[in-house]
Amino acid sequence: MKPHLEDHLRHLPHDELPAYVYDLSGLRRHAQAIRDALPERVELFYAAKANPDPRLLEVLRDVVDGFEVASGGELRHTREVLPGARLAFGGPGKAAAELAQALEPGVERLHVESEHELRMLCALAAGRSVEVLLRVNLPIGLGDVPLAMGGRPSPFGIDPTCLDACLRLLAAHPGIQLRGVHAHLASGLDATEQLRVIEHLLTWAAQWARARGIPLDEVNVGGGMGVDYADPHRLFDWRAFGTGLLRILDDHPGLTVRIEPGRSVSAYCGWYVTQVLDVKHSQGEAFAVLAGGTHHLRTPAAKNHDQPFEILATDVWPWAWERPAVAGEPVTLVGQLCTPKDVLARRAPVGRLRAGDRVAFAMAGAYAWNISHHDFLMHPAPGFHYLDAASPDSARTACETLQPAVSPQPSRGGSVVQHGG
Ligand SMILES: *Cc1c(COP(=O)(O)O)cnc(C)c1O
Repeated sequence: MKPHLEDHLRHLPHDELPAYVYDLSGLRRHAQAIRDALPERVELFYAAKANPDPRLLEVLRDVVDGFEVASGGELRHTREVLPGARLAFGGPGKAAAELAQALEPGVERLHVESEHELRMLCALAAGRSVEVLLRVNLPIGLGDVPLAMGGRPSPFGIDPTCLDACLRLLAAHPGIQLRGVHAHLASGLDATEQLRVIEHLLTWAAQWARARGIPLDEVNVGGGMGVDYADPHRLFDWRAFGTGLLRILDDHPGLTVRIEPGRSVSAYCGWYVTQVLDVKHSQGEAFAVLAGGTHHLRTPAAKNHDQPFEILATDVWPWAWERPAVAGEPVTLVGQLCTPKDVLARRAPVGRLRAGDRVAFAMAGAYAWNISHHDFLMHPAPGFHYLDAASPDSARTACETLQPAVSPQPSRGGSVVQHGG
C-alpha cells in the first residue's frame, strides 16, 4: 500500500472504523493508464454498477468516454451526478417505466435485451427516437469461465435465432435506429481470452450485418476484464489488450468498438479498513473477529474468495489483561454477523494479529459496499473517506464530512483529504 494511504488508514479515528477509504488519485492514474493503453478508436465506458459512488464517477468522467448504466435507478443517479455525460443503458428486465426513461433525451445508446423489450420500446417511442444496440448471446465456447453471461443458455441478451424478428420490428419503426450489436459474454477473462472472444464477436457481427444488408457502425464488446483477488499486483494486461485490439481493428475499418469494464477499473482504489475485536482458538484453529464484516464487504462471500488484506499493527491496548493474539499460524478473519458465512478471509497466513490491530482489505472498490446487505444485524454503516484526486500538485489539505455515498443509513462521518505533490 502507498505510504500516504497507509498513513491515512493508521490515523483514522478509532471510532470511525470500520471505514471505506477510496484512493481517488490512484483511481485516476489507473483509469488513465487503461485509457492510454487502448487504441484511440476504442471507446471506454465505465460500468457504473461496479461502484456508482458519485466521487468515483466524477473522477472517471475526466478519463473515460462515457458510462454504462444498468437500471432506471443508475440512469437517474448517473445523470444527476454527471449531467451531460455520454450514457449507454443496458441491463436485463427493463420495465416499461425504465424504457420510457431511456427515451428521454440524454441516453446515447440503449442495449436491447429481447424481442419483447424491443416491442415495448417501439410502442412507447411515440415519435421519439433512440439509437440501439441489440445485445446478442453468441454461442462461443468460453471454457471454464468464472462468471459466464453468454455463450451458453442465459437470460442475458437475444438468442441469434430471434434477431431477424428484431430486424423486422426495427424496419417498421424508423425512430428506433439500429447502430450495431452488444455482447457482454463473461467476467474474469485475461487479455488473451478477451481478445479471442472479441475477434470472434466482431467477425460474426460483420458477417451478420453483411448478410442482412444492414450497416454496422459499432460493436460494444462489454466488460469482464479479469482482476486477481489472490494477487492484487497481477493486473489485467491492458497493454497487450490494446495492442491485440489494434490488430483486430485492422480487419474492421470504420467500426467503433466500445468496451464497458467496471471491476477492473475501480476495484483497486477501494480499501475497507477495520479493527480486530477479538482473537480466539476453536478446536485448534485461530479466528479473528473484526468490527464490521460481509454486510459491508460482501465481495468475499459473493465470490467465495479470500479478500486480500494488510495488517496495520497498533500498540494501543486499553485493557489491563493480555491482548488476545495469534502468531505464526493461519487465522480466519470473520465479521460480526451471526452466520458462518461472514468470512472475509480463510486460514490466512499472518505473522501476528492481535485484538486492536487494524486490518485493511484491498480491492474493495468494486462490487463491495454497493452489493452488500447493509441492514443485516443493524450495525452502524461505515464511514467513507476519499483521498482526493482533485489537485495533485497543490499542497492543500481539506477535510469535510460526508454522508456515505450510497447508503440510506446514518454515517459515522467521513472525510476528504487532498494530497499535494
Ligand atoms: C456487469 C456488466 C459489465 C461490467 O462488468 P465487469 O466485470 O465489472 O467489468 C459490463 N457490461 C454489462 C452488460 C454488464 O452486465
